Amino acid sequence: MPAPFKTEAVVLRSIRYAEADRILHLYSRERGRIGAIAKGARRVKSRLGGRLEPLARVSLVLREGRGDLATVTAVDTVDAHPGLRESWPSLQRATQACDAVLRLLDFAEPNPPAYNLLCRELHLLDRNAEAATRAHALAFRLKLLLAAGFAPELAACAACGEREHLSAFSASAGGVVCPGCEAGSFPLSGEAHEFLVVALGRPLAEAPAASERALAQADRAIGETLEHHAHVRLRRVA
Ligand SMILES: [Zn+2]
Repeated sequence: MPAPFKTEAVVLRSIRYAEADRILHLYSRERGRIGAIAKGARRVKSRLGGRLEPLARVSLVLREGRGDLATVTAVDTVDAHPGLRESWPSLQRATQACDAVLRLLDFAEPNPPAYNLLCRELHLLDRNAEAATRAHALAFRLKLLLAAGFAPELAACAACGEREHLSAFSASAGGVVCPGCEAGSFPLSGEAHEFLVVALGRPLAEAPAASERALAQADRAIGETLEHHAHVRLRRVA
């Protein structure tokens, strides 16, 4: 029988299974994505159940099974994020963040920057309901793109290297583009460009504000980059 292993993880999704079990999608610090089963987790007296709610950050002992799913043998709460259940916008943003990780990082390989980013995002939303803004959600998505290796080029034309007049965005070129290279692009205002640069450069807690128009363009730039390079389609951040 394989030896049990310990890991820390965020519960991205929890699905009811059979009579009393739960199947879990976990994003772990040590192994990236893990699929697991928590047997009997839905029984009233289960020691596992209450600690394995979606959005919780937990420390686990797992045993590898014969199939794809590991079995949870012990769990401790690191942070249950109770504040997320007291604010609908926070809960919605936190769920969006977990969904983005679920879709973008679906392989069993550790990615410490992505794990730390997700933990910071859940912590911020849990402690401060005012962080649940569209600008903040976009800053998270942009940083997640960076952690996954898909950050767009923002400093120079992604096609020719020109550093002036960067007023359009092309996901297929890989970032901002100049007027000479704008085939297949859409217009990106100076404000939207600035938002992308500052959001990527600053800590998540200091995500900049911007007009709705600029945020819509930033959203499109991030969304098209995800679709083109990661082949992942996420709902736009409204
Ligand atoms: Zn160019």
